Amino acid sequence: MNDSKIPPQIRDLLQEIGKEVHQPIYVVGGFVRDLLLRRENLDLDIVIEGDAIAFAQYLTDKWDGRLQSHRKFGTATVTRPDGFKIDFVSARSETYEHPAALPLVRWGTIEDDLHRRDFSMNALAMDLNPDSFGALVDCTDGLKDLRAGNIRVLHNQSFIHDPTRIFRAIRYEQRYGFQIVENDQTLIREAIRQGVLEFVSGQRIRNEIDCILAEETVPRTVQRLREFDLFRAIQPKWSVPVDFTTRWNAARKAIDWASKYLSEDKINIDAMLWMTLLTHPSSTSPSRQPLPQHNLSPNPSPTRRGEKSYKERGETLQGEGGRESPPSLVGKGARGLGSLHATEAVSNRLELKNQLRSKLIAKESLCETLDKLNPDSKPSEVYMLLKPYPLEALVFTLMQVDWQTENIKNYLIKLRHVQPLISGDDLIQLGLKPGRCFTDLLWKAFSAQLDVKVFTKQEIYQLLRIKDEI
Ligand code: ATP
Ligand code: MG
Repeated sequence: MNDSKIPPQIRDLLQEIGKEVHQPIYVVGGFVRDLLLRRENLDLDIVIEGDAIAFAQYLTDKWDGRLQSHRKFGTATVTRPDGFKIDFVSARSETYEHPAALPLVRWGTIEDDLHRRDFSMNALAMDLNPDSFGALVDCTDGLKDLRAGNIRVLHNQSFIHDPTRIFRAIRYEQRYGFQIVENDQTLIREAIRQGVLEFVSGQRIRNEIDCILAEETVPRTVQRLREFDLFRAIQPKWSVPVDFTTRWNAARKAIDWASKYLSEDKINIDAMLWMTLLTHPSSTSPSRQPLPQHNLSPNPSPTRRGEKSYKERGETLQGEGGRESPPSLVGKGARGLGSLHATEAVSNRLELKNQLRSKLIAKESLCETLDKLNPDSKPSEVYMLLKPYPLEALVFTLMQVDWQTENIKNYLIKLRHVQPLISGDDLIQLGLKPGRCFTDLLWKAFSAQLDVKVFTKQEIYQLLRIKDEI
């Protein structure tokens, strides 16, 4: 194959690796595929017919690099002093005893190794041995499929043995604008119908979805996952709306907005991308009719008395593995309940980490909270209602719910940074005895400050005295 397309530094490195070993050695998979497609890919996966760990150790010493090895899997990663990483694996053959199980692994030849791979276009190897450097090893017609833009598994049991290949097939199809061949589309549908996804751990599915979210073609890929009804196959309550693209674009806009206006804050972008997948059909399109104003009693811990703050609810959920519904959210209408349960169910199925799970649930809860705001809401009311929510939920919702945009923006840019002019210490200095009334007085002072009714400590003291409260 034409190795002149390899960046010179990488070619030198590959040649050096080939010269150092006296066993058959190859670069395989994505690097070779992307080289043939003329796309940059600097992930070097090296297969050696022999002991990969021993060879990786030898190179680590020679380069004065770092070695990470997994004896159990016969794999090793060498990090060169400049930070560049290379993966080594011993050629192996794999046999599967039952669906989605871990395969039995034996050492083998490069051909064995290529036959255990996912698709023909990923089962290509380039020889690194000096006499045959650059020769293509293609025992599954991978080159032909690559030229035709075909994604094809190597045998009919492939998706049953490893159902994560379903996600990989769809991801590559959309990334390269290829097509999964007809036979494989049937195999995918058949595997899903047989329920193979039930055997795959939440973590493995989550990894696949993370990979999909990192692609440039997310809306198309998600559309394709919907066509195969994959979300429902993962968890029956999971339904990604038809207008996903609109929601995705809105989330991207929100992320851009945040990078411009909230550049000082640390925002977890991955969490916001996950939110697009867990926005159930009607959960961020609340009625445009503002609800009648609620009685927002003052409370400095900015939630109403007796009602747990979102954070507290999130902690309860986290503590209990997210299995129980948060008490104060339930019963606020079918929309909230349905999408909240669905988000919890998906979070459980995918074993999402608590931090991500709580942000996703916060986003659901926020949609309900927004119903309590209207265009005339006072800043202090906005502050009180939005304060418990994580930034990601607020920024995400910003672009999805246009009629509340101004309230959320005002909170994010201005209100949340306002510092109280007086503290409990000031009240003590005024001769007051610390007690429960402090909470009410401090909130009264702070809300007046938020609503720009007072500007100085003196004005606050006046306000508090005028009302005969001290
Ligand atoms: P990407 O550009 O997405 O990283 P890649 O081809 O490098 O594509 P990796 O996930 O890095 O993909 O895996 C490296 C190689 O390992 C693949 O090219 C493929 O040959 C093989 N492989 C990865 N996952 C599987 C799988 N689930 N089943 C079989 N082979 C796999
Ligand atoms: Mg890769």
